[in-house]
Amino acid sequence: VSSTAEQFDFFYLVQQWPGSFCDTRQGCCLPEAGKPAAEFGIHGLWPNYATCRGRGNGLARAVLGDSALLSVAGLGRRGKCWPEYCDDGNSLRPWEIRDLLKPLEQSWGTLSCKNRRSFQFWSYEWKKHGTCSNLDQHDYFAAALALKAQHNLTAILAGAGIAPSDDQTYFLSGIRDAIAEGTGFKANVECNRNADGEVQLFQVYQCVDKTGKKLIDCPLSMNSKCSDKVKLPVF
Ligand code: 5GP
Ligand code: 5GP
Repeated sequence: VSSTAEQFDFFYLVQQWPGSFCDTRQGCCLPEAGKPAAEFGIHGLWPNYATCRGRGNGLARAVLGDSALLSVAGLGRRGKCWPEYCDDGNSLRPWEIRDLLKPLEQSWGTLSCKNRRSFQFWSYEWKKHGTCSNLDQHDYFAAALALKAQHNLTAILAGAGIAPSDDQTYFLSGIRDAIAEGTGFKANVECNRNADGEVQLFQVYQCVDKTGKKLIDCPLSMNSKCSDKVKLPVF
């Protein structure tokens, strides 16, 4: 943990749908630990500002309120929207998270082909985002696991009739409503495209208070790259 407390406003708990990571033109590789369950998996727990400040990195995602995505020039003027890489000397040590390795393999597995060891993914997320969280290594990963365990997004969607399918498409509004009702809080969603160019649900961004414990309504909307109807491909 860095010596000075990092100021930020909330976290995004980002979960990815493995089917939508894998059916892209880029494809995916299964982790060494084995094929993950057909469930949303953790991508990261990311500290965020509610209002962008100064200039610098972290421009990509932020949008003001419900308004459309700012122009590229506008993004530049809005400055830095989240802190990152707050302590480069602070590398993730397996010993610190030894009691979490099993649940992490289950809930935070890598689908990258560059390195099929999930520890590599956790190390990257820790350096980029975790070092800005004001949590120590163990508490950071434990917080993400506990938040994910609070609500089963896969089950919430299935309960609303939104089940993985290779031919169905679903209303984005139905997905948003199901998550808001099932978790009690409004989340952001992000889409990507499969190898055929079809738009599909890729990631869900739930918002979390800065202690990392409680879900909150998301204060910002994002450029979601979604259309009105999207797919949720089988994994
Ligand atoms: P991409 O450009 O692929 O959407 O995002 C690249 C990376 O930038 C993400 O993996 C994440 O590390 C960071 N990033 C993108 N959007 C946000 C955001 O809204 N908040 C934070 N904290 N990081 C983000
Ligand atoms: P971010 O987009 O969080 O900055 O970057 C994620 C990084 O972690 C990328 O460099 C990506 O190659 C790597 N990575 C490893 N496994 C995964 C995975 O399962 N999903 C995603 N989105 N990125 C992964």
